Order: sequence, then C-alpha cells, then structure tokens
Amino acid sequence: MFNSLSDRLQDTFGRLRGKGRLTEDDINVAMREIRMALLEADVNYRVVKGFVARCKEKCLTSEVMDSLTPAQNVVKIVLDELTVLLGSTDSKLTLAQNRTPNVIMLVGLQGSGKTTAAAKLAYLLKGQGHSPLLAACDTHRPAAADQLATLGGEIGVSVYRGDGVDAVAVASEAVREAVDHLNDLVIVDTAGRLQIDEEMMNEAVAIKRAVRPDQILMVLDAMGGQDIVNVVSEFATRVDFDGVIMSKLDGDARGGGALSVREVTGKPIKFVSMGEKPDSLEVFHPDRMAKRILGMGDVVGIIEQAEKVADEQQVADAERMLREGFTMDDLLSQMQQIKKMGGLQKIAGMIPGMERAMAQAPGAADEDQLVRIEAIIHSMTRGERVRPKTINGQRRRRIAAGSGRSVQEVNQLIKQWGEMNKMMGKMRGLTQQGAVGKKSR
Ligand code: GDP
Repeated sequence: MFNSLSDRLQDTFGRLRGKGRLTEDDINVAMREIRMALLEADVNYRVVKGFVARCKEKCLTSEVMDSLTPAQNVVKIVLDELTVLLGSTDSKLTLAQNRTPNVIMLVGLQGSGKTTAAAKLAYLLKGQGHSPLLAACDTHRPAAADQLATLGGEIGVSVYRGDGVDAVAVASEAVREAVDHLNDLVIVDTAGRLQIDEEMMNEAVAIKRAVRPDQILMVLDAMGGQDIVNVVSEFATRVDFDGVIMSKLDGDARGGGALSVREVTGKPIKFVSMGEKPDSLEVFHPDRMAKRILGMGDVVGIIEQAEKVADEQQVADAERMLREGFTMDDLLSQMQQIKKMGGLQKIAGMIPGMERAMAQAPGAADEDQLVRIEAIIHSMTRGERVRPKTINGQRRRRIAAGSGRSVQEVNQLIKQWGEMNKMMGKMRGLTQQGAVGKKSR
C-alpha cells in the first residue's frame, strides 16, 4: 500500500536532508517531485495542486528557510498537510446513545468489498462489546446472502435473510428481529452494481427511508484510484453517507483514492480494510497513516498490535525501545512476537524504515530468514547484543563462524539494526521538535 508514493517522498526528503541549508530552488524542485509522486499515485489533480501550493507556501517562509534544520521542517510541514488531507482528526463511528438498535448501512459498488466489510465491521464491533445482527439486503447478487451467512457463522454473528427478495422489507424486519433478540446494532449490507444505476440508487434510498440508519458508510475499493471520486460524488448526492470504509488497502493500491476522497467529498475515511480475513478492518487514523506514508512508522499502531498478543512487560519493552532505541536482544524477542502478531508484512509498515529495508532485502520477510537472523544473534555475546556498535571485524567473523552464516549476512543484520535505530532517532527528533519555527539556536 502506498509503497511507490512512500518511496518517492522519502527519496525527495533524503535529498533535502543531504543539503543543509535550503534555497528557494531546492524547495521548488522538492515540491515538483512531490507533485509528480502524488499524480503518479493517482491522486486527483485538483487535490494535488492545492496540496503542493499549501506546502510550498509554508516551506518558503523565513522561519523554515533560516532554521538550523530546514529539511526537518519541510518534512514536518508535508506530514501535517498530509494528515489534514487524510482527515486530520480520527473519524469515529458515531452511534446514537438513545436508540436501540443502532443501524449502520453499507453502500457501494459491486465488488467493492461491501459484504465482507459488513462482516468485518460486525466482528470489530462485537469485540468492543456490541451485539450486532447482520442484515442480508443484497438481494440482487444471488451469492451475497450465502456469503454473508458463511461469514456470520465464522465470526459468531447472526445473519437475517428474510425472504431474500424484497431488500427494503428484509432491512425493516431485521431491525424488528434485533429488538426481539436484544441486538444493539444492525449492519445492513445492500446491493451494488458494477456501475451506478437508477434502480440501485432508488433501492438504497428506500432502505434508508425504511430503517433510518444512524450511519451510512460507503465502501470504496482503494484499487479504484481517483476514478472512485465520481462514484462517491454520485452517492453523496443521491443517498448521502457519513463516512468511508476504504477496502483493499493491502494490495498494490497506489493510494490515490484514499488521498483524494476527503478533500473532494468532505467525507471522512472511518475504517480501512487491509485483507480478506474478518479481523482485517481497522479504525482509520489520519495522522498515523500520514506517518506511515512518510516512512516514519506507526508507533501507536505497533503498541496496539502488541497489546493484542503481548503481556504488560512486553508492552513496556516496546515503549522503552521506541524511546531509547533497541538492542539485538530486543530485535530477537520482537521477531518472536512478530510471528504472533500476524507476520512481518503486517507490521512492517508500522516500524520506521522497516518496509524500505525489507524491500531492499528481498526474502527478508520469510520465515527462513528469521531463523537465520536468530542464529546470528544467538552467537553474539551479551555485551554485543546490548551494544552492537562494538562489533568490529574480528567479532563479526567470530559471530559468522558461530552461527554458520556468512560475514556478509552478519554485516547486513548489523546494518539493518543501525538503520532502524537511526529512523527511530529521526522520528523522536520530529515528535520532540514540535511546531515548525521553534529554532534550536
Ligand atoms: P461486494 O460485492 O461489494 O459485496 O464485495 P465482496 O465483499 O464480495 O468483496 C469482493 C472481493 O474482494 C472478495 O473476494 C473479497 O474477499 C475481496 N476483498 C474485500 N475486502 C478486501 C480487502 O481489504 N483486501 C483484499 N485483499 N481483498 C478484499
């Protein structure tokens, strides 16, 4: 997700960092590169134009240009603008307190991931203590109700199917069913089409009238790029909706849709889906996503992910590492945790620099590689693991011989450790630096 955009932006910032003082020309070149990177990620042209203009204006102030760390300030400006573009604040799902059941209705084109999103949302909300009921109101696609029933079975959530013909009736009956069965939430899956058509819109409007949803969420396929902007605008005028579930962000989506949708429609992204499994729906945090795009990792995300599988000591360790950097021992215990956390790929984007390091070292994510790294770290002494910088050439040869790996592999591991620590240092610098303009003179 966002890989190519992320790479290009990081390259641009790398070049700026290498310069020390910045001239207006340097900023112009950087802004041109950012513009091209966004356009190639299929971000809407008008959105790109506005974004770059805002960044440029903020960068060309004397506060930035004369500061001791101009490149850092430029990165901070782009980060802040990217956060605003993605929605600036967390866009929570708002449910009515005084209504039971609450109704959430999902709309979107066929294949956007609506039916699976309904189940994923039910799973997520069930985990938060709700008792959802799924309503199978996609009565046009024959397999949709069966698919929902299967997914409901997997996650232990009941599915109301009614007569499977009249979508409006199924939705209304599902709400009554929820009252009878003490479900506090109804999630309504609706019919989609390959393209917008009149009948689909009318049906969505009729369901909306019948069940008066507390939230209508539009499911959008992130692979659709900025094309989705037209679809979204049409839905916004006809049915209207409160927010977006962006699906398939795990694929090679270039990110254009996700980056355009808020500015073009004013509707926030509320959830993102990163896979096909029921647990792959996540609450969307614009600030964290912006940091991930700029290669700064997602500190809170790692901790949250770790909390799901780790005990208190491990969470404390994770926080200490992010504060103080980490040792080889930490690296080893983290790798063992990673397996539990759903694999390296899933969390790589959350660790600063990790996604890039992995891309540069193909195969780094495979299990065999983990075993090899484990062997190398086990051959280090206690002192070496805590202070890997002390590992000189002679020690590297000893470690290589002890682990049965090549000196090159030992070098590579130490280099990766160094890069990850360096990225964390940069990220700490940024978060401590705070607002632009605070000069460190
Ligand atoms: P609907 O027609 O909108 O109801 O779409 P479905 O829910 O049936 O999804 C269409 C296809 O996309 C299915 O094969 C899903 O498994 C797949 N899909 C949905 N969400 C995601 C996602 O976040 N990541 C990936 N990789 N696949 C997804």
